[in-house]
Amino acid sequence: MAEPREDCLFCKLVREGTHVNAADGFVAIDDINPQAPVHILVLPERHVDTFRDVGEFDDGETKRMLQFVADTARRAGLTDYRVVVNVGPGGGQTVFHLHWHILGGAKMGEKL
Ligand code: AMP
Ligand code: ZN
Repeated sequence: MAEPREDCLFCKLVREGTHVNAADGFVAIDDINPQAPVHILVLPERHVDTFRDVGEFDDGETKRMLQFVADTARRAGLTDYRVVVNVGPGGGQTVFHLHWHILGGAKMGEKL
């Protein structure tokens, strides 16, 4: 199990952020700079740099992580929404602790 990184913003928010949802191994926080009326970030509690490293989760954790994303959206009152993961700087990733964006609360454009 990866240790929390002292220099990682999201490891810090796992420990002391305001969580809008939490379950075994995962937390959800509101994005500080929302790009939609509802913009929530889902973070695994343990530090994994990027989605590229998703193989570090075992099958059970991977399933729970996806269910947690769906559960967080449902609890936020969303039925239709967008889930995004930015992977690497070229993919728009700016915080290098894996996270899932949940965007909703308004009609999403058909194009990204
Ligand atoms: P990404 O660009 O995919 O790495 O996403 C990083 C996200 O973290 C951005 O949407 C930021 O607005 C968000 N963010 C940065 N700092 C904070 C913070 N202190 N609390 C909540 N969200 C943050
Ligand atoms: Zn981290």
